[in-house]
Amino acid sequence: TTQNIPTHQQAILVHETGAPDVLKIAEAPVEQPGENQVLVKTAASGVNFIETYQRSGVYPMDLPYTPGDEAAGTVVAVGSGVTKFKVGDRLATAAAQSTYQEYFLVDAQQAVAVPDGISDEVAAALPLQGMTAHYLTRSTFEVKPEHTVLFHAGAGGVGGLAIQLMKAVGATVITTVSTDEKEAIARAHGADHVLRYENFETEVREITGGEGVDVVYDSVGLATFDSSLKTLKRRGMAVLFGGASGQVPPFDLQTLNKLGSLYVTRPSLWAYIATEEELTWRLEELFKSVLAGDLKVTIDQKFPLEKAAEAHAYLEDRKTRGKVILVP
Ligand code: NDP
Repeated sequence: TTQNIPTHQQAILVHETGAPDVLKIAEAPVEQPGENQVLVKTAASGVNFIETYQRSGVYPMDLPYTPGDEAAGTVVAVGSGVTKFKVGDRLATAAAQSTYQEYFLVDAQQAVAVPDGISDEVAAALPLQGMTAHYLTRSTFEVKPEHTVLFHAGAGGVGGLAIQLMKAVGATVITTVSTDEKEAIARAHGADHVLRYENFETEVREITGGEGVDVVYDSVGLATFDSSLKTLKRRGMAVLFGGASGQVPPFDLQTLNKLGSLYVTRPSLWAYIATEEELTWRLEELFKSVLAGDLKVTIDQKFPLEKAAEAHAYLEDRKTRGKVILVP
């Protein structure tokens, strides 16, 4: 039954790319779920860096659009063919269509049930950054106790979760941050060494007795990538997974030869949660860690939906100390 679902809702719409103020609140229709889809009443939507790249035009989008891939909420209608969820179930996803609104649609295969004991806000905050931290450290390069790792931006969303996952494994973790306040946050997540970006290459060499790290995870991009490669040991791996300071320009592969037979990969979450099995494995493991008290999810800021522009500015001004969510 769909009788309690309104025909219209408040939604963020982007009509032109640009600065955060292109994120405008508007009235939009509530769509019915198609085959294998569910319609969910949004409890909270996660705000992620990728949405700033889309909004500013770095990642092209068809206009107009409603941003957002990540959210949690309660199922209010199910489409044909859906057996996994029923009306009233709570779910979370990192791969919905347009979550910056009061109701969102998601393919049932791209959502996971939220266990009792996990709040709606944590369920909205964890999937995208959590599964990113998970795939980077478990799959792209499987971090083991004997590894020394450099993970940039350790006070941020993905960084804070990744540090906790790697410390749980027993690895040695070096991270970078921009301020003293963020240094304290990165240390609280468990980082062994917290550096500033200036001269991090030299400092990593010193910490590792000249040898270098096994793997560097770099989401800062333009400002750090060249130096990141120089922190690696022979045959080490560079994982470039974002461009918070700008995208890394085209790259001469001979550099990998000169710096010691390095590996470089440029992964994205979608390729690591493409199957329902993989998605469920990652998110259920993360929920279990939260319930066991082994993984702390820090909700830094809650913005009302209509203040989505402020949420983007907050992220781009590098103010984040954890997760930013939007609440309708
Ligand atoms: P964060 O909360 O980590 O915010 C980004 C951080 O990057 C800032 O807080 C800042 O920390 C640091 N930073 C360094 N230089 C700059 C700069 N010039 N401008 C802005 N920030 C800068 O964000 P998320 O956790 O949401 O995402 C982290 C990164 O991971 C992003 O680059 C994102 O695109 C990427 N990502 C990639 C995915 C993938 O699968 N490839 C999936 C999810 C996220 P400080 O001030 O300490 O330097």
